[in-house]
Amino acid sequence: MLFVPLLTLALLFTAPASGNAVSLTEDEQAWLRQHPQLRIAGDPDYAPFEFRNARGELIGISQDILSYCLNVLAIELVEVPTHNWKQAQDHLSAGAADLITVASQATHLDKHLAFSQPYIYLPVVILTRNQVDQQLGLKDLYGRNLLTVHGLGVNNYLEQFADKIRLVYAHSSQAALQQLSSGAADAMVMNLASASYQMQALKLSNLRISGEIDYTYQLAFAVRSELSPLIPILNKVLAAMPTEQKQQVIAKWINLEQYLWRPGNYQTLMIIAIIAALGFALMFALYLSLNRKLTIQNKALEQKSRLLEKEIEERKLLEVKLKEQVFQDDLTGLANRRKLLERVSLEWPRSLRASRPISLLMLDLDHFKKINDSFGHDVGDRVLVTTANILQDSTRITDLVARWGGEEFVLMLPETGHDIAMEIAERIREKIATTELDHQGKTITFTLSIGVATTEDGEPSFTELLNISDMALYQSKEQGRNRVSSIII
Ligand code: GH3
Ligand code: MG
Ligand code: MG
Repeated sequence: MLFVPLLTLALLFTAPASGNAVSLTEDEQAWLRQHPQLRIAGDPDYAPFEFRNARGELIGISQDILSYCLNVLAIELVEVPTHNWKQAQDHLSAGAADLITVASQATHLDKHLAFSQPYIYLPVVILTRNQVDQQLGLKDLYGRNLLTVHGLGVNNYLEQFADKIRLVYAHSSQAALQQLSSGAADAMVMNLASASYQMQALKLSNLRISGEIDYTYQLAFAVRSELSPLIPILNKVLAAMPTEQKQQVIAKWINLEQYLWRPGNYQTLMIIAIIAALGFALMFALYLSLNRKLTIQNKALEQKSRLLEKEIEERKLLEVKLKEQVFQDDLTGLANRRKLLERVSLEWPRSLRASRPISLLMLDLDHFKKINDSFGHDVGDRVLVTTANILQDSTRITDLVARWGGEEFVLMLPETGHDIAMEIAERIREKIATTELDHQGKTITFTLSIGVATTEDGEPSFTELLNISDMALYQSKEQGRNRVSSIII
């Protein structure tokens, strides 16, 4: 059980991991020969991504990934001393450093920087004090105080809600967590990795993760624009980094076992269990002298231990449930976009390695707006759920059905060539078109259009193939809807 979140988090890495050797063009190789060394300006205080250990060395997830990349490219890394993140950015802007590792394109709109592909994607979660025992979304925080940290990409997103939620800015995530813990605000947002790491580091046992927001957090490498030829090279190395290696990096820095179990309580439980055991030993030794006092103390300890055990068990269940919800669409129970991307990062390299086909179906309900307008949103929702169930029933266990958004769905069919994908699509189209829903004595029918795209060898990227399936879907719509089209590449 404990390994489930560990895996899912690791797989939030974006780049498909083929493990293939990186093939560089001659120009790229020449560029590398001219640039044997890079100067990094690190963030000394951004655990677990990048921070300084007691010896003053920069360590963390980002450093491990960067070291992997630079090792492959035989580039030497030299550190430019930094006291804080602001200084790191200043060094980069002034040309005193070449590279930063914890950049997010959303926050650095600096034209003088070039960004790699994100090397990690993470959900942003809502933290509250322990008393909150339901799952929260941003809507539940209307009229309340929400803490965030200055300078984060998520702030742009949150500012849309500034008229409904009172945003409170802290100068660091540690300060924000302390404020939340002491009751100065109702909730805070933070990325999942930092949240689990910092809550443990600060030993804040009165906080819990109560939900997530619809914002995904990404980190990328950024270099001065003069060094932009490095970006495609870095992207190639990131894409070829084996999944196992990425998982190892994550597992090294984020102790999700503790995150699930709440270390504070777990340790307390262990200590109480040990004390209770000692209590028994003492009790036995003192038994002959009939020391009743100790017996009572021991009973109290046992009781406390049982209570804690129960509490931990409940919390564990709650957090496992939350983790599942992070990957699920609320209405239909289907996988959401994030889950699909996670599966893509597994399936794509596999198909590429084995030269196996993979098909994508993009499905969109026809004139769905009319259904909402004529019968109401609830009926619209029923149509979506019914469609989701039909899609689920029409596919194999190895396929993945995801709600891509609104009334659009994506089906990923591994090991499925063009002809079979077309058959499956046609079967789904027909099943939907012949399904009837009853609404207040009226029969409602609906249809959908499908676009099919197949790669025989995993060669085009997921995004490319998805675009092609979207183009095929567009053809189906153009030709009158309620039909299946495909584009063969
Ligand atoms: P087309 O055949 O061209 O796809 O037309 P359409 O009406 O299906 O497409 P359009 O994009 O104009 O409308 C999609 C509608 O889906 C608009 C939006 O209100 C509705 N919708 C999106 N998500 C939900 C949902 O979760 N529940 C309900 N009931 N409606 C939704
Ligand atoms: Mg649509
Ligand atoms: Mg539609």
